[in-house]
Amino acid sequence: MACPSPALLWFRQDLRLADNPALAAAAERPLLPVYVLDDAAAGRWAPGGAARWWLHHSLAALAGALAARGAPLLLVRGRAEIVIPALADAIGADEVLAGRLYEPWARERDARVAEALKAAGRSLRLVTSTLLREPPTVMSGSGKPYTVYGPFAKSMAVRGEPEPPQPATDRLHPVPGAPTGDRLADWHLLPQPPIPDWAAEFGTIWTPGEAGAQARLTRFLAGSVRDYAVNRNLPGIEGSSGLSPHLRWGEVSPRQVWHAVREAIPGDVEAAQPFLAEILWREFSYHLLWHRPEMPEAALRERFAPFPFAPDAALLRAWQRGRTGIPVVDAGMRQLWRHGWMHNRVRMIAASLLVKQLLQPWQAGASWFWDTLVDADLASNSASWQWIAGSGTDASPYFRVFNPVLQGEKFDLKGAYVRRFVPELARLPKRWLHRPWEAPEAVLREAGIVLGRDYPAPVVLPEEGRRRALDAFARLRVEW
Ligand code: FAD
Repeated sequence: MACPSPALLWFRQDLRLADNPALAAAAERPLLPVYVLDDAAAGRWAPGGAARWWLHHSLAALAGALAARGAPLLLVRGRAEIVIPALADAIGADEVLAGRLYEPWARERDARVAEALKAAGRSLRLVTSTLLREPPTVMSGSGKPYTVYGPFAKSMAVRGEPEPPQPATDRLHPVPGAPTGDRLADWHLLPQPPIPDWAAEFGTIWTPGEAGAQARLTRFLAGSVRDYAVNRNLPGIEGSSGLSPHLRWGEVSPRQVWHAVREAIPGDVEAAQPFLAEILWREFSYHLLWHRPEMPEAALRERFAPFPFAPDAALLRAWQRGRTGIPVVDAGMRQLWRHGWMHNRVRMIAASLLVKQLLQPWQAGASWFWDTLVDADLASNSASWQWIAGSGTDASPYFRVFNPVLQGEKFDLKGAYVRRFVPELARLPKRWLHRPWEAPEAVLREAGIVLGRDYPAPVVLPEEGRRRALDAFARLRVEW
């Protein structure tokens, strides 16, 4: 029997071996696994600082796993439309296999790669790897894309359970004489001296890579999954899965997560629903990005575009640094800086304060998140910011303004979250913790706080900010 022709396996956002359809399709052939660092194609949306920290460690883990199975990972930096066809040519691969990407820049790049391969008589085969279903296959009865989450989620349910995940292949067949690539360390994805190591604490929270993803999933299934519906809103405890960066880099697939949760709560379809609904929010974000590629930059509701934001560098900086004087927001922004991640409830409160009470453009907040989140994901980040700002297709109405004090008191009732990330307030009694500016002088003194010295006075009082936001909205004259 003739030896099957070699394949080039192009890893992108599916940095795993199990349930990897591109790998499964190439596993019986001699293969060359490759990762291409192509910042030029991604441009503005090249991974930010925190995501690069993650990528470094995730690639190290993937390289180790592939080497153990006999097919080492090749690392190459450059334009994919040049690198990929050249590698395919060098190893005589007739096909390049990869998981499909949905970011507008990646779609354009894949079209260029496919064209270059085609010109040489080769092909690019893209398979579904990072989503449950391809966005164009989930359309409304009238053949249109969905704009509202509820009907989208229903439509996903009608299509039935996702396919079961596939196990990893134990043994791979390397191509003989594979080219030599870069050393991961030379890509400088980690913070480099003399810049202080802002990621120093990340490793205490996260273990990037497929094994780390499985460990995180196992921990979630053994613990928080059952009380997820209530505890997911409490930032002071580990009430959610913490799987977002692992999903972002495809170290675990959504269908692996989906089926693992189903099996962990057998027979109780309803109990799994609140969590699975979030997996569908992720799908919905990709659905929106696919059909509205302008989403990362421009308001999805066109009538929202002229919103009178009032950019102010000092306010933006206070927010970024966790120095707004609003404790729950500052705790969130400092968690983000220290861990590269922020609790979902607090993301909503912090984002709402920025775009509503402080009238800063949502793009400025999204951009900061892009650089500081290890799970920074173009679809989920842009969709979530537009949802908060009120400019999304299925957005929280603009006139619904979160009160960060009441939100803090409701979801961080005992103050564990604020005390952890804003230690200068740790001695403040619960009653004043989320509103230190209202605390009597004697209470502040007792807690060792002088407002404006040890902790900032609020950049805006919630009610005053709310009025300002509603005035700005009234000027826009958008009907809800
Ligand atoms: P869980 O509650 O355990 O949820 C499970 C998974 O579902 C998550 O890992 C994530 O993949 C997905 N998910 C959960 N909530 C959402 C949501 N609202 N939208 C889309 N997917 C969701 N999520 C990102 O993955 N990347 C981002 O860049 C991102 N930016 C955000 C920006 C703002 C302003 C807001 C309000 C939310 C953002 N989210 C983003 C969504 C959400 O906050 C995170 O997915 C979640 O906090 C991750 O924690 P977890 O893994 O414990 O989530």
